[in-house]
Amino acid sequence: MNPPPPIASPVDTSHRVERVRDAIASNGWAGLVVLDAADVRWLTGLDSSNAAVVVTPDRTVVATDFRYVAAAEALGLEVARIEQSMWQDLGRVAGGLAAGGSLAYPPAGLSHRAFLQFTDALPDSVSLRAADGVVAKLRVIKDAAEIAHVRAAAQLLDGAYALVAEMGLEGRTEAEVAWAIERNLRERGASALSFESIVAGGEHGARPHHSPTDTAIPTDTLVTVDIGCVVDGYCSDCTRTFAVGDPGPELREAYDLTLRAQVASLDAVRPGAHGRDIDAVARDLIAAEGHGDHFGHGLGHGVGMEIHEAPRLSRTSEDVLEVGMVVTVEPGVYLPGIGGVRIEDLVVVTQDGNEVLTHFTKELVTA
Ligand code: ZN
Ligand code: ZN
Repeated sequence: MNPPPPIASPVDTSHRVERVRDAIASNGWAGLVVLDAADVRWLTGLDSSNAAVVVTPDRTVVATDFRYVAAAEALGLEVARIEQSMWQDLGRVAGGLAAGGSLAYPPAGLSHRAFLQFTDALPDSVSLRAADGVVAKLRVIKDAAEIAHVRAAAQLLDGAYALVAEMGLEGRTEAEVAWAIERNLRERGASALSFESIVAGGEHGARPHHSPTDTAIPTDTLVTVDIGCVVDGYCSDCTRTFAVGDPGPELREAYDLTLRAQVASLDAVRPGAHGRDIDAVARDLIAAEGHGDHFGHGLGHGVGMEIHEAPRLSRTSEDVLEVGMVVTVEPGVYLPGIGGVRIEDLVVVTQDGNEVLTHFTKELVTA
């Protein structure tokens, strides 16, 4: 059993609850069950590993166990304390709140066993509606407070890259560099990393998700450094690729191509733009230089409470950008057995286009 977290400072989430109520009203539901931990935190401010929220047109009730009751009450939330089984108790609470109407729930958030316990406790007058991602769809548009947290988390990354440039990479191990970055981010206020740092030197750079090793970074090559951290529950994400010694013409060309693709696709990020079209800007440029097969992942992803969330910038994305979305733009060129390049910025979509939140230089820095 985990100890309870410290009581969170109250965040005004009433405008978020209103947006959920609009969704409930437009679907004609009597209530919505919210299970995802990030959704719960976004909606209520409660950081809990075991809580569900039932939202109705006029009530918001948090079902949680004794470990989180005090924290939930401190946030001013109406709490239903789970006494025995989370799912049975939740069924009773949600069933009571949605009696005589339809209750929407996220099937992806329940095991089959949990579903059986949940439905067993529902009164017959409630009809269930399966609806995944109701809150996640709303979370893609960040409010000013959320953007401020992402901005703060992004700012810490700028400092970590400055540290990398200053300490140098030649002769160090990937793991040593990753630890120096983590320490720097934590000392400057990050509560955690948003993912395990990627430090990929030489041919390791050809693997987009390489884990840092204890081998020394070779010289005359490129080193990809992809890092992210968490501030006030919000993630950041940025990649820079550094040179060690002289990386030679092939890797320099790959760098210049990736940078051109990154700048061009970044420029395409604006309200109304389609995720797949932005992806195509980078992909077409890279393919035109014969490297189409060397860029195997999507161009970017949404970032917020989770490091990978909607919207997606990819070949198959159907997402359309709106003001307040936060996305990465991260093309790469990966040359098997040789090395790789990725350049990633984190941006917020604005009325005029976008604002870049990650500011470390994109010129090739030798470290
Ligand atoms: Zn990244
Ligand atoms: Zn990313």
